[in-house]
Amino acid sequence: MIARQTFRKLAADLDYPRIMVGSRTLDRDAWDDAIDSATMQERSDLLAALEPQLLAATPQGIERSRKWKSASSLSIPSGEDLRQRALLYGDVEALPFIIEALQKCPPAVREAILDEAAFLAVGLSSNAWTASARRCDSDGRSRHREIVFSRAICTELVLHEMAHVWHAPLHGAPDNEGPKRQAIRSIGREKLRSLGPEWELAMDQQEWRSERNADALAEIWMNRN
Ligand SMILES: [Zn+2]
Repeated sequence: MIARQTFRKLAADLDYPRIMVGSRTLDRDAWDDAIDSATMQERSDLLAALEPQLLAATPQGIERSRKWKSASSLSIPSGEDLRQRALLYGDVEALPFIIEALQKCPPAVREAILDEAAFLAVGLSSNAWTASARRCDSDGRSRHREIVFSRAICTELVLHEMAHVWHAPLHGAPDNEGPKRQAIRSIGREKLRSLGPEWELAMDQQEWRSERNADALAEIWMNRN
């Protein structure tokens, strides 16, 4: 269950959206009070009401929603369909968690993940493995993102990483997460620190925001039957 303090930050991240919860309208000034006075169930309902805003929190999320709306099919894939379509490298023990996560997330997210991501797992039944670095399915179609799991895998963790993929740059798009975020990939956190506190602070704020978003979406999806 999301902590109240984290929830208040999450509402601020989303600029206190105006939403309807039951018969009640929440707007900017009412958010903090609503979070503070909510029971566990009400907090869970409030969080679930934020799903559209969490999905649309980045231009990439908005673009993936748009792609889904223009190409959506209404058929619901079976577990077997998902097993066929999910591209997993490494330890097959990861598969049940991945399938359950694909069944719990919204269809738009499921299709984006199946389309864009390959799953890699190590540490469940193997200590190491090697394979081609090209992540292609049997039709030769490649994936441009990877989600990597250790033995700590659980369904909520798969959902969390899937939420990150939802907000990640689209295939072929320039990495528009900003130079500071690109920098950490290439030079690492220690060197980033040496550039000065404002770099580290900017990085941390962006990272924490992204982690709060992924945690919130994973919690919402996990609570869904
Ligand atoms: Zn994360």
